[in-house]
Amino acid sequence: MQRRSFTGGAGGERMSGSHPSLPVFCSQGRRKMAPTHVLRCCQRGLAWIPVIFIALVVCWSYYAYVVELCLLTISSTGEKIVYLVVFHLSFVMFVWSYWKTIFTKPANPSKEFCLPKSEKEQYEKEQRPETQQEILKKVATSLPLYTRTGAGAIRYCDRCQVIKPDRCHHCSACDMCVLKMDHHCPWVNNCVGFSNYKFFILFLTYSLVYCLFIAASVLQYFIKFWTLCRRKSAENCPKSDLPESHAKFHVLFLFFVAAMFCISILSLFTYHLWLVGKNRSTIEAFRAPVFRNGPDKNGFSLGFSKNIAQVFGDEKKYWLLPVFTSQGDGLSFPTRLVTIDPEQPTECLQPGGLDKGAVEVSAEQTSPLSESQNRLLGNDYHSEEDHKETEVLKSDESEAITISIESES
Ligand SMILES: [Zn+2]
Ligand SMILES: [Zn+2]
Repeated sequence: MQRRSFTGGAGGERMSGSHPSLPVFCSQGRRKMAPTHVLRCCQRGLAWIPVIFIALVVCWSYYAYVVELCLLTISSTGEKIVYLVVFHLSFVMFVWSYWKTIFTKPANPSKEFCLPKSEKEQYEKEQRPETQQEILKKVATSLPLYTRTGAGAIRYCDRCQVIKPDRCHHCSACDMCVLKMDHHCPWVNNCVGFSNYKFFILFLTYSLVYCLFIAASVLQYFIKFWTLCRRKSAENCPKSDLPESHAKFHVLFLFFVAAMFCISILSLFTYHLWLVGKNRSTIEAFRAPVFRNGPDKNGFSLGFSKNIAQVFGDEKKYWLLPVFTSQGDGLSFPTRLVTIDPEQPTECLQPGGLDKGAVEVSAEQTSPLSESQNRLLGNDYHSEEDHKETEVLKSDESEAITISIESES
């Protein structure tokens, strides 16, 4: 069985205008110049402050480590060389992954998810939500959609005027629908989603490596300088080989800053590793995606190794490099739990997806929070799931669960 493939959803470089995957908006031209335009520009400018702050700290750490510690403090040539080589390796990987996380444009739904012209006009004229849903359902029959709103409706973004693909959410900071949106990160001034999630994980990894290496290699000099400071008044204060200069302050401060960043990054890093292992986004960890059988937080989980491959790809040699190797197009995802829907083409489950309990609805089903209840979804523009409609997939419940296994070969 051939899975429908869509192009145009994968992320491209923010700076590259000629990338084939430019965002597709169904509502191009809808954003007009308004008095708030200036305010918006100011907001965009201010949003770079955390990134500039990090960049300045990184530049200072480079100077403090290379010049003040390695060149001016350490006397042993061998030690100098080893420290400088390892430092530069981690520095390059850290800056590379940080750069890619910041400047990889979030991936948007492709034009297949926009309403065709006639349906769009019909939808806009229509006032009754039920009829609007009928229009959306009709269009959605040709789309690979497994998830719904909490009320069982097709997920639609009025702002972007697009049917939201599975795992896609609207980010109000970016003012666009972002594929497999994880969260909007102020430290990279970008949305973390399908196009840059791997880069974000590597950014956390290499920033942790960078800080750990600095803290570990600076520690002995930190202790020496610290001891010198404390023995300042002592008569037989050892005039060690350490230069009495401002290097002391850089080295002391370097250790504090590196240790502080280590501690703060570590929790975020372990949390995201856990999410990758479960194939969940941060949003999905707080509110389970709603399938036709109801919410299932493990709905996209394919087993540990396949979950890792979803983000990092099949080829292990690329796992540690900030190059895009995530699987899929970000528009549709293999699910472990699907049902036959008369409105949908026969759906597929990728091999390996049928793990324990795959056919049953997860016992740990969580009741979906409305989007307004979820603080993390503060960026999500819509709250169609707030509608407390009771007709939740009545017809689906009576349907037999049938799964067809798709062969990869
Ligand atoms: Zn949107
Ligand atoms: Zn965003």
